[in-house]
Amino acid sequence: MNFENSLAFATQLDEQDPLSHFRSQFLFPKHNGKDAIYLCGNSLGLQPKALSQYIAEQLQVWRDYAVEGWFQAEQPWLTYHQQLKAPLARIVGALPQEVTVMNSLTVNLHLLLVSFYQPTAKRYKILMEGGAFPSDQYAVESQVRFHGYAPDDAIIEVHPRPGEATLRTQDITEAISQHANELALVLFSGINYYTGQFFDLETITKAGHQAGAYVGFDLAHAAGNVPLELHKWGADFASWCSYKYMNSGPGGISGVFVNEKHFDNTELKRFAGWWGYHNESRFQMEPGFKPEFGAEGWQVSTSPILLMAAHKASLDIFEQAGSVSALRQKSLKLTAYLAFLIQQINERQGEELFKIITPDDASQRGAQLSVICKRNGKAIFDYLVTKGVIGDWREPDVIRLSPVPLYNSFTDVFEAAKALTEAASNN
Ligand SMILES: *Cc1c(COP(=O)(O)O)cnc(C)c1O
Repeated sequence: MNFENSLAFATQLDEQDPLSHFRSQFLFPKHNGKDAIYLCGNSLGLQPKALSQYIAEQLQVWRDYAVEGWFQAEQPWLTYHQQLKAPLARIVGALPQEVTVMNSLTVNLHLLLVSFYQPTAKRYKILMEGGAFPSDQYAVESQVRFHGYAPDDAIIEVHPRPGEATLRTQDITEAISQHANELALVLFSGINYYTGQFFDLETITKAGHQAGAYVGFDLAHAAGNVPLELHKWGADFASWCSYKYMNSGPGGISGVFVNEKHFDNTELKRFAGWWGYHNESRFQMEPGFKPEFGAEGWQVSTSPILLMAAHKASLDIFEQAGSVSALRQKSLKLTAYLAFLIQQINERQGEELFKIITPDDASQRGAQLSVICKRNGKAIFDYLVTKGVIGDWREPDVIRLSPVPLYNSFTDVFEAAKALTEAASNN
C-alpha cells in the first residue's frame, strides 16, 4: 500500500477501517483534557469500558449469595473459568481443553517447567533466545539450579549475529540441532519484548522436537497480538499474561496451554493443588491427587473470580471482533504506517536518527516497533510525553511504540509520528 504523510490520509484510513468502532469500548488516559495517544498496549492494555460492570456483577453475586456463589449463581464460580476457555483457545489456536487460566505468568512458567523440564544426566540443557525477558531468565536460572545444574552450563542462549539486532530462524534451528543430544527443553518467547521480533514458532517447534526436546513458549507479547496455532504447531506448553494485548488489567490472570498429547501421560510431574483435582470428585476431599483431564489439571488454587471477570470483559470484545486474524489485518497496516512515517523523518533529517530494529518483514513482527534513537533518546522520549504520546522507554536508547488494532487509529499513529518529527528537529 502507498502511504501518505498527511492527516487527511490518516483520517481517510480511519474512515475505511471496519474495526474503528471498537475504540469507543476503551478508556483512554487523558492529556490536557484530551485522550492521550496511547501506544503502550504492549506493556499494559487499556481498560474496556464494560470491565467495571463485569466486576460489579461478581461483587453483587458475592453480596447476594456469599458462599453459595460457588454453586448457585447464574454463572457459578466453580465453573466460571470454563467460559473463558473457548474464546482463549481461539486466540492462541488451541483446543478448549488445552487451555485454562490461573495465577500469573512467571508462576505459570515455573509450574509448567516442573512438568516439562525433566533434566537427565545427558539431557539437561535449556535453549532460549539471548535477551529474553528478565523474569523468564530468572525463572529458568532458578529451575536449573533447583535441579542441581549450573546456569552457565545448562542454559544455551542464541544471540543475533554481530551487527544484527534480531535472530535468524536458521541460526535458531542450527543451534538446536548442534545441541540436539543434550537438550531437555527449547523455551522461546513468541515475540521478544525488546526487539519486537515475532519468531517462527512452527519451525522452532519442529526443530526442538527433532532434537528430542520439549518445546514451550512465553506468549506475553504474542497472545492477542498475532495469530497463533499452538495445537497445529504441536508446541508442548505455553503461557501468557492477559494485561498486555489482552487488556484485562494490571496483574491480570494468566493463561496456560498444555498440548493434549500430554493429557494421558501419568509420568509427567506436576505441583498439584485442589483446584486441579478431578472435577467430579474434588469435594470428596480424598487423599491422593487425581488430576482433572486437560490443562485444568495444572490448576492449583481457588479461582480469583474478580480477575476472571475482568478477563471475560476483554475476551468478549475479542469475540465481537471475530478473530485475531481480523485484528491482524488492521495491525499490519497500522504498524506499517508507523514504520513508513518514521522512515520519512529519517529522510527529512538526512540521517538515520531513528533506527527500527524490529524486523521489516511483517511476518516477523506484531504491533510493536522498537526504535533506537541515535542520540538524545531520553530527551526525545520525554518530548513525546509532553505531547501526550505514551510509548515506553527501554535503556539505553530504545523507544517502543505499539499501535493496537482494537483501540488505536491511523490518526494516533500520524500524531505520534508528528511529535517524533518535532522532537527530531529539536534534537
Ligand atoms: C510481561 C512479561 C512477563 C511478566 O510476567 P509476570 O509474571 O506477569 O510479571 C514475563 N515474561 C515475558 C516475556 C513478558 O513479556
